[in-house]
Amino acid sequence: MTLNITIKCIDCGHEAKFDINETACPNCGSQWREALYDYPKIGNTLLNDLDNRTDSLWRYHELLPVENPIPDVSLGEGATPLYRAASLGMMLGCPNIYIKDERQSPTSSFKDRQAAVTVAALKEGGIKELVLASTGNVAIAYSAYAARAGIKLWAFLTSRVPSEKMREVALYGTQVIKVTGSYDQTKKVAADFASQRNIFHDLGAKNIPCIESMKTIAFEISEQLTNRLGASGETPWRSPDWYFQSVSGGMGPLGVIKGFRELAQMGLAPAKLPKLGIIQAAGCAPMVHAWKQNAETAEPVTNPRTMIETLATGTPGRTYTRLRQEMLESSGGIFESVTDEETFRTMHLLAKMEGISVEPAAAVAVAGLIKLVRNGIVKPEETVVINCTGHTMPIEPVVLGDSWGRSVDLSVEEERPEEGLLAALNHISCDRYPRVAIVDDNADARRLIRRILQSQGEYTIFEAQDGKEAIKLISTEMPDLVLLDLMMPEMDGFAVMDALHNDKQTADIPIVVVTAKELTAAEKKRLNGHIQLLLQKGNFLSDDLENEVRSLLK
Ligand SMILES: *Cc1c(COP(=O)(O)O)cnc(C)c1O
Ligand SMILES: [Zn+2]
Repeated sequence: MTLNITIKCIDCGHEAKFDINETACPNCGSQWREALYDYPKIGNTLLNDLDNRTDSLWRYHELLPVENPIPDVSLGEGATPLYRAASLGMMLGCPNIYIKDERQSPTSSFKDRQAAVTVAALKEGGIKELVLASTGNVAIAYSAYAARAGIKLWAFLTSRVPSEKMREVALYGTQVIKVTGSYDQTKKVAADFASQRNIFHDLGAKNIPCIESMKTIAFEISEQLTNRLGASGETPWRSPDWYFQSVSGGMGPLGVIKGFRELAQMGLAPAKLPKLGIIQAAGCAPMVHAWKQNAETAEPVTNPRTMIETLATGTPGRTYTRLRQEMLESSGGIFESVTDEETFRTMHLLAKMEGISVEPAAAVAVAGLIKLVRNGIVKPEETVVINCTGHTMPIEPVVLGDSWGRSVDLSVEEERPEEGLLAALNHISCDRYPRVAIVDDNADARRLIRRILQSQGEYTIFEAQDGKEAIKLISTEMPDLVLLDLMMPEMDGFAVMDALHNDKQTADIPIVVVTAKELTAAEKKRLNGHIQLLLQKGNFLSDDLENEVRSLLK
């Protein structure tokens, strides 16, 4: 079988057959080329064939530049789960936020897609040795697949890559070369080394299999969203309104948007492509600067100032220009940046509220979404898929601060050690903690508030699901604070508030109203003087709520 793929030069339009050993256009020498397939033909058969396919990115093998439908090097990459981020959605007032969990890849980042497809193509092309530069995850992923393929790998890493990641690269038998300098300088050293020794050099976005591998994220998102929400109406599959990703060089979104376009060309997903939410770390955000100045090319950032080494590409080159063109001419979207501090806060929030621990580079995308929801760019009803690109490794100490655990010391000799343990654990018992009553008819809202309080402080929590139950609960338990919803059937929050005030025993208990309701002037007046604070649902993050509660309890 030979591959029926046309490689078209983006600069001169010259067309050639796919050959992994040909790294530039034979006509004009440009390295920017694109793979094209027989879309109508593949579109006719793909849907019917899918039922019998494996759960890995090879499910879509006819849209990849590899002959073997499931190459030997495969570790089951791709087919990562898609979850609804219910707590995050509730905090932001956007119920349709989904997380594409790329942490669950063989080496814990979405670079496995790129490594698997590229290494499989290199192996089929008879290539035995490979050079690449990396900020960490590319080197880890390629190391695993190169080991399986019997390809010798030279990985050039900046000395700023965390040592845990470097050791992992070395563990796979890769030749690690540490370069003291920026990532862009490291890339230059790797390129010189490769050309001197005439070794294949993986150029990321300019290497056909790399971009092609990223398309599979789009294919999976469409298929998974359709399984959850049903077809779009016009086509068998649907697309989200937004695709969010943190970006360093920008290969991910370039490949993903090509994937959505191919789905449209095959008639599987709507012609309207998702908008791209491309988020960079503020200390290294050349694309964002250029976008805000409406510039076609990005000025390099020569001295990145971010702790998030994974995203420290200072020279995005033509990838930025292509992404910008993509947004302006078809998909739409925005480039935005977030600070390291916002990122670490978000990383903590995602772990506490969704049970998902991601590496800072992945949290950048979520922090960007929070920012863009708050400034109105992302609308409440829109469907958003965030790529959670990689797993926590290592956990930055700054995320947690110092007081993240308790110690129980059992080394001290005691007659009855279990008594020592119980005594120590008694300090952790809950009767001394502030008592908070949550009154809300919506179980998800109660769960969210309970989770916010319990993950950040020590509280004894009571819950009531309607007004009558609330009055009874509050007068028996006498909490230190009431968190009150307004819209409840039968006895609403206003009535609960009045009843508590009219009873001498409960009249002084502070009340915080947490509501989704847009209040009228008359309603605001009614609350005035009777409550301590009004929080709008969908417009506060976990830290905001807990900070307010904490200060009211002082
Ligand atoms: C590589 C990487 C990114 C950035 O991806 P690009 O699309 O190549 O810019 C984001 N997050 C993680 C975890 C990564 O490894
Ligand atoms: Zn050309």
